[in-house]
Amino acid sequence: MAKLTPAQALGLDPQQIYFIPLGGSEQFGVNFNLYTCDGQWLAVDCGMGFADEKFPGIDIVLPDPSFIEPYIGQLSALIITHAHEDHIGAVAHLWPRLKCPIYCTEFTASVLKRKLDEVPASREADVHIVEAGAQFKVKGFTLEFIHVSHSIPDTAALMIETTAGRILHSGDWNLDPTPVLGKPTDEEALKRIGARGVLAYIGDSTNAEVPGRTGTEADVEKGLARVFGECRGRIGITVFASNIARVQSIVRAAQACDRRVALVGRSLHSMVASAVDSGYLRDIPDFVDAEEIGYLPEDKQVMIVTGSQGEARAALARISRGDHPDIVFGRGDTVVFSSRAIPGNEKEINAVRNNLSAAGVRVVTPNDTEHCIHVSGHPCRGEIVDMLSWVKPKLVVPVHGERVMLEAQAELARQCQIPHVLVPNNGSVICLGPGKPEVVDHVQTGLLAVEKNRIISTSHNSISERRKLQFSGTVHVTLVVNGRGDLVADPQVSTVGLINEESPEEKKILTGILDEIEDTLADMEREDLYDDHAVHEEVRIGVRRYVQVKLGMKPKTTVHVVRV
Ligand SMILES: [Zn+2]
Repeated sequence: MAKLTPAQALGLDPQQIYFIPLGGSEQFGVNFNLYTCDGQWLAVDCGMGFADEKFPGIDIVLPDPSFIEPYIGQLSALIITHAHEDHIGAVAHLWPRLKCPIYCTEFTASVLKRKLDEVPASREADVHIVEAGAQFKVKGFTLEFIHVSHSIPDTAALMIETTAGRILHSGDWNLDPTPVLGKPTDEEALKRIGARGVLAYIGDSTNAEVPGRTGTEADVEKGLARVFGECRGRIGITVFASNIARVQSIVRAAQACDRRVALVGRSLHSMVASAVDSGYLRDIPDFVDAEEIGYLPEDKQVMIVTGSQGEARAALARISRGDHPDIVFGRGDTVVFSSRAIPGNEKEINAVRNNLSAAGVRVVTPNDTEHCIHVSGHPCRGEIVDMLSWVKPKLVVPVHGERVMLEAQAELARQCQIPHVLVPNNGSVICLGPGKPEVVDHVQTGLLAVEKNRIISTSHNSISERRKLQFSGTVHVTLVVNGRGDLVADPQVSTVGLINEESPEEKKILTGILDEIEDTLADMEREDLYDDHAVHEEVRIGVRRYVQVKLGMKPKTTVHVVRV
């Protein structure tokens, strides 16, 4: 019997189009969406996310592509809407498992190629550059990028046309009327698509709880110039490295205050290089080298630094710890956060702010100034209402955000008289039409953890064990016994995360463990002493119980029995 395609395995009707988010719904990051119609599949975006404390030792997580993997023959393409990490950051890691052609706009392709180059197995990926406004076909789907403004160049929404109908996948967007770099969102194209009929709008929910409109990057340039004008010493300013419009706004604001600008941090250099390759940032003054800007008078310096999310290894965190080779900030200097916290990063950001404050640095965030120094790249409620009035979808599926944000956009869509609204979970199989829109099934989803030399599931036992060890500590015992089970040397005991072995008082616990081992062996039946497993278990349980009584912790306890 021929192998079932995933669509057949799920019992999907080839005359309907279905949407399956494998990541990015109900969480920030790891956007990975699938569409299927008539047996063909399309993937849209493939992003990474930041790991939280649930995954000790892990910085980055990826969506798990296992669901689509057995059937990649039917996966026509991977479309990337823009070059933010939460949309592009998993591609280089996962492409060897997807092996399909990739389509994106020019700046996105430039960023992507640098990433693919770093992973040998992904270097042969086929990346096609498509301009916004031009239709292109992949097997089963006719597609068109629609230009939208966002906090990174060359962002596109995606129109997906199938035999079952037309879908608009928004990607990330806002309606900045005067973005300083690139054009405003292509309202006419969206209205044109709306006039032709749209089955479903799959849209960005990030700011769906925020009333009003986002504002404009043009105001940021003016706001920054005012904040810079109030500074006497050096200025550091942190932004997302990919926010090229903001980089340009900073350079212009610095120019207005007769200051020069240096870039500090690897990702800024790489993003700026991609921007220049794609025709941006061509008419601004040259940057000064980070190693040389210190030779200018303090009131002539602006340094754009990476690390707006408090990332421990990024430039700003290192500067705040006094740990950067070129840059030192102190009393009289100012550090501006031209950014907002991605939910979940607040603790790390505060640590950086506190370190800077302790060194006497004035810290300015968007909350500390009346001037506009940041606008979001995502649509607020007023903009979402505009979008829905242009596209006039029969169904709205909110994605890209935590549950409350998805529900906020769902509520707004109902207020806008959208006939159908469905809020997805990761793994929901949603029939978008032309039949009744509904959730018809649910497929397995998950996250992968990126380690230095491997990628593993976040449910891998090594990660759950690490989590336990953080709270429990460990005890390792080695027993050397003869054939009859008598100790032939003192047991070796070591602990991790439990006691300070330098402290005579706490060292008594080690002596206590040794006594416990001897007592346990003395209490065992003679025949059990011949059995390695019995010795192992009795000693393990005894030692663990002893530590629990003494310290209130149940350590992970390992016992090695060496028989001589
Ligand atoms: Zn984005």
